[in-house]
Amino acid sequence: MPNPRQILKEVFGHDRFLGPQEEIISHVVAGGDALVLMPTGGGKSLCYQIPAMARPGTAVVLSPLIALMRDQVRALDALGARAACLHSGLAPAEARDVLSRLRAGTLDILYAAPERFMTPGFQQVLGEIRLALFAIDEAHCVSQWGHDFRPEYLQLAVIAERFPGVPRMALTATADGPTRKDIQARLHLEEARVFATGFDRPNIRYRVEPKDHPRRRLLRWITDEHPGQSGIVYRLSRKKVEDLAEWLTAQGVAALAYHAGLPPAERDRRQDRFMREEGLVMVATVAFGMGVDKPDVRFVAHLDPPKSMEAYHQETGRAGRDGAPAEALMLYAPADFAALRRLIAPQDGGDGPDGPGGGESPRKRIELAKLTALAGYCETDACRRQILLGYFGQDLPEPCGNCDVCDDPTEPVDATVLAQKALSCVFRTGQRFGARHLVDVLLGKNTTRVVRFGHDAVSTFGIGGEASEWQWQAVYRRLAAMGALAPDAAGHGSLVLTDTAWDILKGRRRFAMRLPAEPERRASRKSRT
Ligand code: ADP
Ligand code: ZN
Repeated sequence: MPNPRQILKEVFGHDRFLGPQEEIISHVVAGGDALVLMPTGGGKSLCYQIPAMARPGTAVVLSPLIALMRDQVRALDALGARAACLHSGLAPAEARDVLSRLRAGTLDILYAAPERFMTPGFQQVLGEIRLALFAIDEAHCVSQWGHDFRPEYLQLAVIAERFPGVPRMALTATADGPTRKDIQARLHLEEARVFATGFDRPNIRYRVEPKDHPRRRLLRWITDEHPGQSGIVYRLSRKKVEDLAEWLTAQGVAALAYHAGLPPAERDRRQDRFMREEGLVMVATVAFGMGVDKPDVRFVAHLDPPKSMEAYHQETGRAGRDGAPAEALMLYAPADFAALRRLIAPQDGGDGPDGPGGGESPRKRIELAKLTALAGYCETDACRRQILLGYFGQDLPEPCGNCDVCDDPTEPVDATVLAQKALSCVFRTGQRFGARHLVDVLLGKNTTRVVRFGHDAVSTFGIGGEASEWQWQAVYRRLAAMGALAPDAAGHGSLVLTDTAWDILKGRRRFAMRLPAEPERRASRKSRT
């Protein structure tokens, strides 16, 4: 049998392995099971294709998408490898032909759809031939935690029992903690070695800022730091995309709008222009990006938050493919998350007895949890890259030195008293208000709302003079991010106290945070440097 390095060079024409490929491949060639977590484009296919050729027998690759299987088989054919696929799109004669090649042992790799795997005829053939390995691609489909659950994947659990001794691999790009555990449990891969690497994009600098005049902030960022460079700006709605592209153009920034509401020909034309021309800013919904592999995208900005860390990683990952420095900026407001929460969990009376979200469907709870993880990333006091990679199961031992938190010279300070005042104000006003109103009360502002609700008479009215409006806002965001405050179950945007809040209020728990400077000061500090 040829060794993996030879196959890499002679069959695939590559000189060296990428990232953890070599380690994974030698582990599987030696007969080990593996769970491989790697981002899209990380090079997962070779991790099973090379062992398939290096080990005797046929490798069976289970994959959910027929189009994807066809592409892979075509590519392998072109390289002279012996591959085929088996799925419901084949004519009976074609399927018979594939099965007879399988029986004859003349296939190195067989791609099959999971539902095909379960047919008795197919399993019988598999029982008669020599098997090199099983690879379960897009393995997150086995988990309800994944975004793409497919019931037929559950049946793949039988592989472990029916084919003991054949190495098994599960591969996916979606791998938060719960999904990973689910994959391992459902596919009996508890003992498998986990390879979770490759999610880091060290040349991308992450930066997250509270949303404050977002259009002007974006314009200043582009003109100061990325003039004449290509970039992508994500917004949630088609209308916002159109408006922002128009506004940027009026400000002298060459910008295009892209969303699924445009005719396909127009979309293609705009994507083409973005790929070909230099220095264009694409303002887009998430409809833009699949298959966009422009190496010199220098920045990606989110003016609305994406729906999960996976989406954030994928969307920001479109920057800096060439390895040169690139930047990802997210402007967010807690209200954005509240709006997204309402989208996920509209007021349908689904709030169960056991607290916020208790009565919602598992699907909604999962989406809410994913959103909460992202909100935590926005509000973190720790290195952004450590949080981001940690989410994907990858440990970064030291802070990265290439994100806004790492660059921030201010140290966290003890802010327990501020937190107690902030939480006490939530309590005194009946846990029915959002941060903006609560800050008005703390600062002793006689707004019409404050007067209407009689909040100029509560004990926390006007006790917040030691911090600015901006800083109080930050205290509330931080408290929400750490779970001391929860959004109300009905999605009205009011904040309610949790057990953590009571621990802080009763002095059982300290609270530290970095107090942000005012946006004006930050702006002038920036322009002096
Ligand atoms: P994934 O399945 O993880 O999304 P792929 O397996 O499709 O990624 O690989 C992404 C790209 O990287 C492909 O174009 C592939 O040819 C290329 N690639 C993979 N491994 C190597 C390597 N060792 N050297 C060079 N290119 C590689
Ligand atoms: Zn960092």
